[in-house]
Amino acid sequence: MNSILITGSAGFIGTHLSEHYLKAGYRVYGVDNYLTGSIQNTDYLLHKYPKNFVFSEQDISDKWTLDSVGIQNLKYVFHLASPASVKLYQKFPIETMQANSIGLENSLQFADHYRARLVFSSTSEIYGSPLSSPQKESDWGHVNSFGPRSCYDESKRFGEALIFSYNQKNQTSHGLVRIFNTYGDRMHPNDDRVINSFLQQALKNEDMTIYGDGQQTRSFCYIDDLVAGLVRYAESNLKQPINLGNDHEVRILDLAKLVLEVTGSKSKIRFEPLPQDDPLQRRPDLTLARQLLEYNPNITLMDGLKKMMSVIDSTQL
Ligand code: NAD
Repeated sequence: MNSILITGSAGFIGTHLSEHYLKAGYRVYGVDNYLTGSIQNTDYLLHKYPKNFVFSEQDISDKWTLDSVGIQNLKYVFHLASPASVKLYQKFPIETMQANSIGLENSLQFADHYRARLVFSSTSEIYGSPLSSPQKESDWGHVNSFGPRSCYDESKRFGEALIFSYNQKNQTSHGLVRIFNTYGDRMHPNDDRVINSFLQQALKNEDMTIYGDGQQTRSFCYIDDLVAGLVRYAESNLKQPINLGNDHEVRILDLAKLVLEVTGSKSKIRFEPLPQDDPLQRRPDLTLARQLLEYNPNITLMDGLKKMMSVIDSTQL
């Protein structure tokens, strides 16, 4: 039986990716220290897949090991462990920097030991405040190295450079994807990610908060599309960075209106000042993903919001 290892398995993307591989008949080893993930996500996987989901609570930035569980046929290591939302990485800036540097290096050594391919979850944030849009993989980024978002942006950039250096020095074939805003159920309920916040506020008929004038844009990818992209990238053996997300761009104000429509909420929209270094535009150029992975994200924002609503656990509200 083939197996994979996921660091950050108790998080949003980690739980969905684990479930994809468990359904496909893999054994999945999950590692997480619950910095931003949830025990409920682990319990869900342990309960539903008791034979093939193996969990270990460890901090990947410390020396960690899974020697006792006798791993066999390890194909991929997905290094997802890191806070992902602005609120949470600013709450845990040092932990964020460590997870994407020391933690990533620990995972690379682990992958090399088992001759597995590692896929690192980088981010659209490495492009910073983009000088052109959509963002192409060849863009080098316009990033503030000394500000409130630097712990995330710069540690992901370091992580990318570490993968490059490992491959060059050791002739390995590790790779990375640059993930753009992704949404779905099992997101951390209070992490202030915009879709989460809007949905929660709308369902409680509270004011919906827009930072800035709402003209800034984002592109949102439903989790199932992202998981399909991650799986294809892992199988591809590509080493080069590839953008994954959805390239349909939407103004934040229009997103708020869509959430009002989907939920039938009576919430009012309230405007607050835009935080420092918040990018005004985010949209992936998916040409490479389409050409090299036949990646085709096709779940519309309206359908994704409806799916999210239908599975969202009422305890998350
Ligand atoms: P998440 O916060 O839900 O999951 C991250 C998981 O990593 C959590 O379960 C957390 O407890 C765990 N973790 C953090 N530090 C750890 C450590 N030192 N040791 C062990 N576990 C640790 O976030 P997510 O949305 O699932 O994001 C997963 C990855 O994808 C992150 O690397 C993030 O930067 C990247 N990413 C996500 C998005 C998105 O839209 N969700 C966008 C771009 C990049």
